[in-house]
Amino acid sequence: MSVDNYAQIDIPFNARYTCLFCGEPSNDAVNIPYSVDDIPYAPHEPLSVPACSECLVVVKKARCQSIYQYRNAVKAALTRKYQKALSIGSNWTEQELKDSEFEGAAFEGFKRSAWMMYTMAKERVNYSGWPLCLDGIPLEADDEAGGFAFDGTEFVSIEHAIEHYIKTFHLDAILLPELVKLLGKDKFGYSVRISRLYLNITAAERIQIIADIVENQA
Ligand SMILES: [Zn+2]
Repeated sequence: MSVDNYAQIDIPFNARYTCLFCGEPSNDAVNIPYSVDDIPYAPHEPLSVPACSECLVVVKKARCQSIYQYRNAVKAALTRKYQKALSIGSNWTEQELKDSEFEGAAFEGFKRSAWMMYTMAKERVNYSGWPLCLDGIPLEADDEAGGFAFDGTEFVSIEHAIEHYIKTFHLDAILLPELVKLLGKDKFGYSVRISRLYLNITAAERIQIIADIVENQA
């Protein structure tokens, strides 16, 4: 099959010229899977889907097979790229930003744009596209779905969420994953809060903290 005649995914009227991956305006399209070598391993027909130039770059580098894997790869890449913008929502509320007493031209600019940057990044990362159909027939469902949502942001997986919060709050790189493993996904917020209390710890301190937490939970 030549690369220019993949079937176009069905696009709802209100999503014309919209990137399937992040919801930004798009005039471009990309083939899924991107490499012809991956077509035999894709669980669906080769597809052409609308993508913005930024998501296109990720797709070209990702080396996945299914549209679902590509979607996760783009989500993970956007989460990493906009980590700082996403962290604004973890560090501030909109009202706190408005009320903050910081002064100076640089901070005024930050205040004006920060919340907008945060909401734009979050909307792009959380964008879920539309139901995927080809000529009216739904695509094979995603059998690897395993996302994790926390504090309004959807992550590809719990591991991606851990990575994001370690960067956002400069957490100990071992403590948070250990706590999440021991306490479970349901206590993710608690694990983040504990980890924020103990920055710059030694290995011995870390072992003690984990032992204390586990004992408290027992
Ligand atoms: Zn996009």
